[in-house]
Amino acid sequence: MSVKEKGYLTTEEVRALPQYPTEEDFKRGPMAVIECPQEIPCNPCETSCRFNAIHVGKPITTIPQFTGENCTGCAVCVTRCPGLAIFVVDKTYSEDMATVTFPHEYRPLPKKGDIVDAVNRQGQFVCKAEVLRVLNPKAFDHTSIVTLIVPQDVVDDVRGMKRLPRD
Ligand code: SF4
Ligand code: SF4
Repeated sequence: MSVKEKGYLTTEEVRALPQYPTEEDFKRGPMAVIECPQEIPCNPCETSCRFNAIHVGKPITTIPQFTGENCTGCAVCVTRCPGLAIFVVDKTYSEDMATVTFPHEYRPLPKKGDIVDAVNRQGQFVCKAEVLRVLNPKAFDHTSIVTLIVPQDVVDDVRGMKRLPRD
């Protein structure tokens, strides 16, 4: 089944994307993972990255290209992508654990130290995870980002968290 038909990418499909960071990239630290496989007229990822790590160019429907050597893992692109298709993965966090940063547009926001339910691209439970940080500065224009600490072997699977219940 195509990505268009099923509406999500599998972990294997993400790893096969040309813009997926290399092993060497991941050894340097936090890296943007751009899960955008379709030719759509869109380029805020490119214009928001002041380190020239993302290139769309012309035509604007070109699939984003990624240059891992330029990526600092700042996560600004995560907050700018209208498709919520960019994540930052840090496989250098510790030997056993890695971190994944994703946009989270639901209230209430979690807090550092909370234990939450980490979910995959289909919203299915993957594991319990500790919240490392939550960032919501004005510059992010109401798109908060959450970073979870998860086991290394599921960091390419976790792409979000279950919404917290309202008070
Ligand atoms: S994480 Fe920062 S440096 Fe890396 S691609 Fe995104 S905006 Fe550029
Ligand atoms: S901003 Fe997001 S949806 Fe648009 S081209 Fe970049 S990665 Fe794809």
